Amino acid sequence: MEQIRTAYRTCPLCEATCGLALRVRGARIESVRGDADDVFSRGYLCPKGAALGELHHDPDRLRRPRVREGAGWREVSWDEAFDRVVAGLAPYASADRPRDRSRDAVGVYLGNPNTHNLAATLFMRPFLKALGTRNLFSASTVDQMPREVACGWLYGNPGLNPVPDIDRSSFLLLLGANPLESNGSLWTAPDLPGRLRALRKRGGRLVVVDPVSTRTAALANLHIPIRPGTDAAWLLALAHVLFAEGRVAVGRLAEHANGIETARRWAEPFAPEVVAGWTGVPAETTRQVARDLAEAPSAAVYGRMGAHAAAFGTVAAWASDLLNALTGNLDREGGVMLPRPPETRVRASPAAPGGRGFQIGRWHSRVRGEPERRSEFPSAVLAEEIEESGPGQIRALVTVAGNPVLSTPNGRRLDAALATLDFMVSVDPYLNETTRHADVILPPPSPLERSHYDLTYNHASVRCIAHHSPALFEPEGPGEAEILARLASLIGGSPVDTILRGALRERIEREVSRPGSPIAGRDADEIEGLVEGEDPSDRVVDFLVRTGRYGDAFEQGREGLSLAALRDAPHGIDLGPMEPAFPDALETPDARIDLAPEPLASEVDRLAAAVDAGPLESLLLVGRRHLRSNNSWLHNLPSLVTGRPRCTLWMHPGDCAARGLGDRETVEVRSEVGHVVVPLESTEDVAAGVVSLPHGYGHGAPGTRLGVAGARPGVSANDLTEGEIDVASGNAVLNGVPVQVRAAGRSSSPSGPNR
Ligand code: SF4
Repeated sequence: MEQIRTAYRTCPLCEATCGLALRVRGARIESVRGDADDVFSRGYLCPKGAALGELHHDPDRLRRPRVREGAGWREVSWDEAFDRVVAGLAPYASADRPRDRSRDAVGVYLGNPNTHNLAATLFMRPFLKALGTRNLFSASTVDQMPREVACGWLYGNPGLNPVPDIDRSSFLLLLGANPLESNGSLWTAPDLPGRLRALRKRGGRLVVVDPVSTRTAALANLHIPIRPGTDAAWLLALAHVLFAEGRVAVGRLAEHANGIETARRWAEPFAPEVVAGWTGVPAETTRQVARDLAEAPSAAVYGRMGAHAAAFGTVAAWASDLLNALTGNLDREGGVMLPRPPETRVRASPAAPGGRGFQIGRWHSRVRGEPERRSEFPSAVLAEEIEESGPGQIRALVTVAGNPVLSTPNGRRLDAALATLDFMVSVDPYLNETTRHADVILPPPSPLERSHYDLTYNHASVRCIAHHSPALFEPEGPGEAEILARLASLIGGSPVDTILRGALRERIEREVSRPGSPIAGRDADEIEGLVEGEDPSDRVVDFLVRTGRYGDAFEQGREGLSLAALRDAPHGIDLGPMEPAFPDALETPDARIDLAPEPLASEVDRLAAAVDAGPLESLLLVGRRHLRSNNSWLHNLPSLVTGRPRCTLWMHPGDCAARGLGDRETVEVRSEVGHVVVPLESTEDVAAGVVSLPHGYGHGAPGTRLGVAGARPGVSANDLTEGEIDVASGNAVLNGVPVQVRAAGRSSSPSGPNR
């Protein structure tokens, strides 16, 4: 009889980092519950976490590498698969080729799951370094790049991201965010729905600004249905009121901030009465929210996808923190604060005090001359970099845990472009709409076959939490660390062992030579000998937590955080709430907050001109989240796709009537670049003039292996998005896309395979 055991681990599926309790019989996951003893999530989980066992056992998940053979695929050994990769990339990148710009012929696309993957986080860098291309793309530019760029300019490092101190706040203003479905983004706090309810229960106020009446909006004291893409102007209208009514009170940080007078000048043209026509928000409502914000004992302004993945997204991301600063809520309990990860935090040298500050545009994309941000180009330009011939044209592509055909703008164009590549390799567990174009697929292990530690999301967490989850099962093949190290070795020439050891060694050498480090001046070999852990990723975790603020600093007899201590604490270790961190944590060259970053001046001018020009007379498309969906990659799990089809177009009844459209009718949605055919839902949950379609659908393409998703394909919202980008960050404009909607012809299929 097989033994039953309970295993505890952190959910790797979203930023909430919930603790899970898995009932395991032999090699089978029997059930997944929330871990009631988890120090952070206290038993909370959502349907996605409960489906982790389904993901592990999904028969469509690839277990062995496969290579393209004619029109089909052949499963091969790992050695043969790597040989094919070497041969495929050899014309562009190999150990004996020059390290020059000819390497730009290889593009790389990185998907969001990489940020939830310890090994990928640690070993992507050596792989990219070995490859040497500048044609790097990721899901960041269809998501959070506006916030990163804004934080880079405000605080000197795009990774310095103050988040709402939800548990101690008395006023929360959310824009374009729907935590009751998504549980938060760039904001790690498990059970955000419960935390928001607790805010209301203790007398706090919640204001939600969103063109859709989301479940989060239903929980709010006030819901403001704003016109899509106008959040930046509305936030500046709030700032205008604060300045005009003498309500600015920066407080402690006033002596550490530049640019207040410039910000006042920038906010001047955005009087509530001026922006009311553009945003659709009555001037009196705007004035009242500004006053409430200023008078609240503590308050936090937070914007996400709806506000940022839109035109002027970076202005919106900056203006949120401008308001937090102007009301004295930046870096203050109950306001927005800098997370306090337990690991050593390494300052980004270009942005350190005395350096040049956060820079963008160190190089530019070939076709449209887009500047790099954080060493990436916008995903919106990937297709043109493949299509347009000439030196530096992308002829080979590496994708890692990404499905840009469904996730990035104008997916049909990218789909066609991928088919023209000379070679493509995908590190991915699924044969999906993107990887179907690959020549080689290298499947990584299931999330339960690798250890987990949230190196990325500890930097967005409302509490300092240390939680390590060991691998639950032996992997069937190499892990991400080995896959990426082997690719780096084949391309760059260094031995695999050197690369695997290098991630730790590099960090040790940096730390022993860093003044102020707890191990400054110690011998690197000695420290390396003291690091514990069998797995190269876990060894880095041991080093980072031991040299972090709660670590034992490798001192004999000193108690402190270590990998061993984490292994003894399967429910995690809670090291307390956020604490004031500025000005010490600032990384701007003058160690001051730049409240009016010069690169945003032209964007603010452009925004004022757009407000003057007035609103577009068109239906505007926005996205939509659902608790059971996570971008494109969980639609193959049966428990997450039950019930009524979710890929429907929401339209206000008044707009339906004006077009003679009825509920559940099949409609054609058309934008400048494409069209989709989808069932309509007439609902007052969406504002007049706005239509909403969830993203991540559009499955069922020939050659994919997603049995469950393919049976309920839906359509891809990115067949409508057109490649417009937020000028400051290069982020795709996914919300506020002008579309037309009309009844579909009788012969049209409601939502079948669309490519
Ligand atoms: S909210 Fe759901 S998907 Fe996110 S970490 Fe928690 S259980 Fe996992």
